[in-house]
Amino acid sequence: MSRKQRVEPSGDLLEVSGLEVEAGGRTILHPTDLNLGAGEWKAIVGPNGAGKSTLLKALATLVPYRGSIRYRGRPISEAPLAYRSELGVVLHEPLLYRELSAWENLLFYARLYGVAEPHAAAQQALAEVGLSVYAQEPVGRFSRGMIQRLALARAMLHQPRLLLLDEPLSGIDARGEEEILKLFRRAKEAQVAALWVTHRWRVAWEIVDEIVELERGAVRRITRTAGVDRESWEPSYLEEGAR
Ligand code: ADP
Ligand code: MG
Repeated sequence: MSRKQRVEPSGDLLEVSGLEVEAGGRTILHPTDLNLGAGEWKAIVGPNGAGKSTLLKALATLVPYRGSIRYRGRPISEAPLAYRSELGVVLHEPLLYRELSAWENLLFYARLYGVAEPHAAAQQALAEVGLSVYAQEPVGRFSRGMIQRLALARAMLHQPRLLLLDEPLSGIDARGEEEILKLFRRAKEAQVAALWVTHRWRVAWEIVDEIVELERGAVRRITRTAGVDRESWEPSYLEEGAR
């Protein structure tokens, strides 16, 4: 992330309007508007089944959707590859090869993304998620938390400008969490933007500019964190076993 600084154009990086997803004959995401500026982070919170993952998948163009997604002012349909190359995506599926080592996985993706210096990029990405000492271990032996760290390394390898993160801290231990949160802060300082699906809104609060609450496929409420006391805020839905 720190290897290169880019100058961002002013205005919104991502402009989403009327984004709608249907599956199994019903509407999973009702027409949704959402904007994100360079360096802006938004947490997406809500109960299970709210449509959080579906929203991210639609933005990653992994499920069919209706509505408009503009990136840097252009409809993404005009330049889908350019858009995808600027995305860093962590979904529930880690997208890693279990029989390859952590190092081999990252090298594979670095080449796939056309990263200029794949070795240096893989090395830095492993270090950033605290996995350097496990570089040569096959991913099949990794714990859930290690896989999640590696999925994050993979997502950030090509210096994306927009992160789509679905529960990126799940399974990660307390020390790993601190490292990942530092990584997020550095990314934000480098003007990388993110949509971060999480149940851990208290943790996310320290980083994000906005909390977007989603319920039954629709935005229920938006809270700008600046100037709001975290302790006075409660989600509008009932949390199960608040963590
Ligand atoms: P969340 O991530 O907020 O828990 P999801 O986006 O995974 O919610 O799912 C939202 C709703 O859409 C759920 O009710 C889920 O069962 C439904 N859903 C998701 N994908 C499909 C699909 N491919 N076909 C039918 N229903 C789906
Ligand atoms: Mg989900």
